Amino acid sequence: MTTIHLDNLVKRFGAFTALKAMDLEVRDGEFMALLGPSGCGKSTTMNMIAGMENPSEGRILFDGKDMNGVAMGRRGVGFVFQNYAIFTHMSVYDNLAYGLKMRGVASAEINRRVVAMADFLQLTPLLKQPSAKLSVNILQRLAIGRSAIVEPAIFLLDEPLSNVDAAFRAVMRTELKHLQRQFRQTMVYVTHDQLEAMTMADRIAVMDHGVLQQVGTPLQVYNDPVNLFVADFIGAPGMNRLKGTLAESDRGLLVDLGPLGQSAPLPQEIAEGARNAGVREVVYGFRPERVTFADQGGIAMPVTFVERIGARTIVHLGFGEQAVKAVLDNNVGLAAGAVAHVVVEPDAVRLFDAASGAAIQKVG
Ligand code: ATP
Repeated sequence: MTTIHLDNLVKRFGAFTALKAMDLEVRDGEFMALLGPSGCGKSTTMNMIAGMENPSEGRILFDGKDMNGVAMGRRGVGFVFQNYAIFTHMSVYDNLAYGLKMRGVASAEINRRVVAMADFLQLTPLLKQPSAKLSVNILQRLAIGRSAIVEPAIFLLDEPLSNVDAAFRAVMRTELKHLQRQFRQTMVYVTHDQLEAMTMADRIAVMDHGVLQQVGTPLQVYNDPVNLFVADFIGAPGMNRLKGTLAESDRGLLVDLGPLGQSAPLPQEIAEGARNAGVREVVYGFRPERVTFADQGGIAMPVTFVERIGARTIVHLGFGEQAVKAVLDNNVGLAAGAVAHVVVEPDAVRLFDAASGAAIQKVG
């Protein structure tokens, strides 16, 4: 049982700063996802936690103990990478048993744990098979089992599912979550796939350009993104954003949507926040899932494309910078060329400062 504390962690490669002053607390037994686009510094952070890279500044603490100078093998971490590290000349059984043998575990106990892990990961029929003959999917499952079987206090996984096929990825998301629940390890999981982070993690640390943007539960980062980057990165499709200018009216504070020739009302607590912040140019944001269509009123927008994806339909509306999407159930009686009256659920409205991208906090 271990907590991980990153304290003002910085990593520079020559003149380039890959990670800027990162502070993060991973709680005991927590599943933390590091999420962000390629190059944002996820793997660099992970490699420093594992002890493969040294920080340029700052500290990494396990249960309050500074890991600076503690060798990788002595940190009690298990890790799995995108490219499975399996001994292909060994059988599945021997691969699973390897770490336990190295630790001098008695053979009866090794057998018990290998059988249990194989059962858990549905590898039992393959135990005697040479690993060289396994598919990529099974190899990655074996790699996860091989690291998990020694029950490390901290389990680090860096994009472990990016090479497996989509159907298997969905299965493994569930299995990994079960695995972590069973062993109660502190888990850090690197991914650029927001769906993986949203479905598995207890909390998500969203990163961009070496800067930690937001840490929160999946619902916190989905519902209340701290800025436009998080609003866009979380959710598929991401949050809708319409540029506008704030204007007082007899109906309270409105967002004048400029090119659309329309305006959108603001809920009282957001209007108060916007007045406090003193901003004028804003982005009016709302999730595509929090939209309904009315016969009149709302924001009138032309339908440009109707995308039917099984149980849901994505309706594309508007053009260019003023384009939005609505995710609805399958019974949408609209086709391209129609005009839709988009009504945003009032508690789904989010407002951002157009200049900084920061979310405007609600007041009251
Ligand atoms: P990806 O999923 O593409 O690996 P990432 O978020 O894990 O993305 P990192 O691998 O941590 O990103 O890399 C962060 C930045 O640091 C990138 O711009 C990368 O090119 C740079 N970088 C990483 N390792 C080194 C290195 N050894 N020398 C120089 N630059 C590096």
